[in-house]
Amino acid sequence: MHQHANGTHPALNAYDTVVVGAGPAGVMAALGSSRRGSVLLVDSVALPRDKSCGGMLHELTQKHLAPFGVLPEGIILEPRHVNFRYVDWDRGIRKATELRFVNVDRAGFDDWLVSLLPKSVEVIGLCPLVSFASRTDGVTVTLRTSDGPVDVTCANLVGADGARSSVRRALGIGTASSYVTLQDYVHLEGAIDPFFDCIYMRGIGDEFGYAYVVPKGEVAIVGSVFYPKTKRPGDKQDQVLDVLRRSMPQLGESLKREACAALHLRTTADTRPGYGRVLLAGEAGGFMSPTSGEGISYAIHTGLAAGEAIAASEPDDVLAAYSASVEGLTRDIRRRLRWLPFMESSTGKYLAGFVPTSIVSKVTMGL
Ligand SMILES: Cc1cc2nc3c(=O)[nH]c(=O)nc-3n(C[C@H](O)[C@H](O)[C@H](O)COP(=O)(O)OP(=O)(O)OC[C@H]3O[C@@H](n4cnc5c(N)ncnc54)[C@H](O)[C@@H]3O)c2cc1C
Repeated sequence: MHQHANGTHPALNAYDTVVVGAGPAGVMAALGSSRRGSVLLVDSVALPRDKSCGGMLHELTQKHLAPFGVLPEGIILEPRHVNFRYVDWDRGIRKATELRFVNVDRAGFDDWLVSLLPKSVEVIGLCPLVSFASRTDGVTVTLRTSDGPVDVTCANLVGADGARSSVRRALGIGTASSYVTLQDYVHLEGAIDPFFDCIYMRGIGDEFGYAYVVPKGEVAIVGSVFYPKTKRPGDKQDQVLDVLRRSMPQLGESLKREACAALHLRTTADTRPGYGRVLLAGEAGGFMSPTSGEGISYAIHTGLAAGEAIAASEPDDVLAAYSASVEGLTRDIRRRLRWLPFMESSTGKYLAGFVPTSIVSKVTMGL
């Protein structure tokens, strides 16, 4: 197991690479860039972390991770695989697709990723980035440790600090807004269908995007996605739970509720690989699926690409190499963005009910 510390002072005052954010994007960036030289990976929260998430791992993600190891059995929950199912709740329509996910415990998955890092990578939790100053020959990063602010320098900085990235903001790149998400962990009093149900219902109001239900061993996650600036999302989530429980008596008591933010991508300008010596990976760079809300595979893909670009290029050429290697992914996001207005419209949601399941499945696989 890779050792990490919380709140400590970095061991050096100069690194080849500093990575901010120990999510999948940051860990993979640290892993790749460790082939170039010294790496410091910091996160503002204590490690191991516990990020609010549905824990649906796209099957293809395992392909990206195969060179590093096999998912440990202990982090896979029952049912091991779940397929995406489109549900129009009010009209009683259910369309099961072939899009399949591995059902993981997200905290366990994130901790396993950190364990893949070589010992040479220094990992510190409770050590937020406060600011940074970029020069032509490198970057000075100010971190907050338990002893107060500390400056370290690096040749390249990777901002992998998620939906509300401070690195992105400091670069002056317009920040995308964020969805408000709520997740309840609900005790299961009987088995529910082994699907990742994405549920449209009309009575919750215009600020409500969709809800999702997924079984996770002895509990189920019931999540809701609300548009930015939604007022009283907690009341709306209670309403969603009430509606679901009326037809799903298996959904028992809620054991825990958590709130989080997810990127609300709107335009192609929201996806940006960085500036100068600073790279942006994962949600910080606007890399996630605007249509399915899936972000783990995008974070792993871009984190790996950032790490490989650092390992293979001179510091001044890293951004160009990284931008080139994520060009395909950027195009993929652009394509999905074109579908988004239709998918989010009430017409789109209504028409989806008439589309044959095989076509919904095909479209979902591509989106
Ligand atoms: C409720 C919810 C459910 C989701 N479900 C799924 C799902 O089932 N499948 C899927 O593929 N995706 C899902 N996603 C999306 C997925 O969780 C993210 O896209 C993914 O975690 C992004 O990875 P990342 O490494 O870019 O950022 P994150 O995982 O967000 O990590 C960023 C890290 O940066 C740290 N940080 C922030 N600011 C600073 C700072 N100033 N200094 C230091 N560290 C900082 C944070 O503490 C955090 O640990 C879900 C998202 C939400 C909100």
